Amino acid sequence: MPGKLKGLSCKEDSLNQQEINMLWLVCSSIRDKFMFGCLILAGLRVSELVHLKRSWVNFDESTITVPVRQNCDCWECLHKRDGLWKPKTKHGARTIRIDPQLRPILEEYLAGNDGLGLTRQRVWQRMKDLCRVAAILHNAYPHCLRSTCAIELAHKGISSASLQYLLGWSKLSSAEAYVRSDRTRALEEVDEIYVGHV
Ligand SMILES: [Zn+2]
Repeated sequence: MPGKLKGLSCKEDSLNQQEINMLWLVCSSIRDKFMFGCLILAGLRVSELVHLKRSWVNFDESTITVPVRQNCDCWECLHKRDGLWKPKTKHGARTIRIDPQLRPILEEYLAGNDGLGLTRQRVWQRMKDLCRVAAILHNAYPHCLRSTCAIELAHKGISSASLQYLLGWSKLSSAEAYVRSDRTRALEEVDEIYVGHV
């Protein structure tokens, strides 16, 4: 039996559009929207989300840049990383285009805050609470939101190489798995071929 493809572990738990809409509705504060939006629309890892600073965001270029390293005095970084935060892998340092829906949320939240101010554990807890309020039966774990982001980009026709870059994966195969198994996109592409032959 082949093992599960890396990067796909959460695919079956990813959210559908109705669940995404429900979660937006139950985000009661701008901080909730910032947290949920960065996971579902920018595909950030939780560790990246909790370390995001205003300096990562360039509104002129409409980008979020995850730095190669950042000094940090959070408990985890002080005790486990000598006060230096780094992305999970070197591919984690990347520049992401800001989704138009996310932009006003970033503008509003970052105008008054230089970061989320929550630990990774609190992000998990808050997402769990939001799912409960939204009556979503399975828990939308933060990495499933990242997976949902990847699925959406695959639907919209992104190439494997670009998807790998934007999600910060080390291996192209993680992105290929999403693009390859996108049913909607496969049917649309074959429709285009059929129409072209009529
Ligand atoms: Zn830290």
